[in-house]
Amino acid sequence: MTIEELGASELHWLMDMLQTVDVGLVVVDTSYRIQLWNGFMENHSGLLPRQVRNRQLFDLFSEIDEDWLRRKCEPVFLLKNRAFTIWEQRPYIFRFKNYRSITGHADYMYQNSTIFPLTDSRGQVSHLCFIIYDVTDAAVSKLELQSMNGQLRQLSTTDYLTQMRNRGNWEESLKLEFNRLQRYSQHTSSLIMCDIDHFKRINDTYGHAAGDIVIKAVAEVIRKSLRSTDLPGRYGGEEFALLLLDTTADQASYLAERIRRKVEQLELSFQSHTIKLTMSFGLAERAITMQDYLQWLDAADKALYHSKAAGRNQVTRFHDTL
Ligand code: GH3
Ligand code: MG
Ligand code: MG
Repeated sequence: MTIEELGASELHWLMDMLQTVDVGLVVVDTSYRIQLWNGFMENHSGLLPRQVRNRQLFDLFSEIDEDWLRRKCEPVFLLKNRAFTIWEQRPYIFRFKNYRSITGHADYMYQNSTIFPLTDSRGQVSHLCFIIYDVTDAAVSKLELQSMNGQLRQLSTTDYLTQMRNRGNWEESLKLEFNRLQRYSQHTSSLIMCDIDHFKRINDTYGHAAGDIVIKAVAEVIRKSLRSTDLPGRYGGEEFALLLLDTTADQASYLAERIRRKVEQLELSFQSHTIKLTMSFGLAERAITMQDYLQWLDAADKALYHSKAAGRNQVTRFHDTL
């Protein structure tokens, strides 16, 4: 049915539908002056059609990024293309308060939109029509899911007791760093493995709860001693692994010694007891001869074993005769 064939009552129906449809309809002319503003837009903006008519879109709604929207609309005017905006790109075009109860925690209405050309009798694009969709429910669900996924990822990659990376996550970083060093051979990084001395005794003497306090305290000492580019992880029960990016063995050795001393000086209160402890360290700089990250780990581990065997509470640097 063409518009000419519509009777007066059908036209009236069309106008009613336009007013009540649950999407926003806005028509602007080539200067972005508003020519049509339906019920949805009126309800959400609080502005009546007569209050917006002939007003420039960007004057009336300062929240709209004018450059961005003009860029979107250009091909609609020039090429008669349709254009789309999605909430992932910009949450909304018009900042409307969100009143929906189920998504009460979204402050503003998330919007997608379609922009299409309206032509005059000569086929020239004289106006644009915006259809504004309220996609708040879908957007909020998606955002919640993403944040939930983030939290799950965090749970599965973080050690609960120390909030450090767990072993799997830490080893993944080590692997990545090893591969990076393969490509940039002028860089070097170092690895420290450290393990609390006679930890079993602490557990046996004071109980597991005390053991947990000790592990947490050591994690805190380590965390405070590191730079933001260092990657600490809880490698095992009372064993930590530290990946130090762009760090030579000399620098790593200095750091390990500092942590060793701080741990030695700790005095942890547990019930009426004061717990003292020491820690052993093994370190290895990445060597060009290493075939994979496991060899790097193995080198640091050998050095740690040497520290243990030589009496504990010391730092050993890996070398070939270990
Ligand atoms: P060494 O100096 O040779 O390292 O002796 P050690 O006693 O520290 O080493 P060993 O490996 O024999 O003992 C480690 C103990 O750590 C065994 C285990 O019961 C305990 N452990 C592992 N994880 C945890 C934990 O999360 N909390 C507590 N409290 N204890 C743990
Ligand atoms: Mg131990
Ligand atoms: Mg151990």
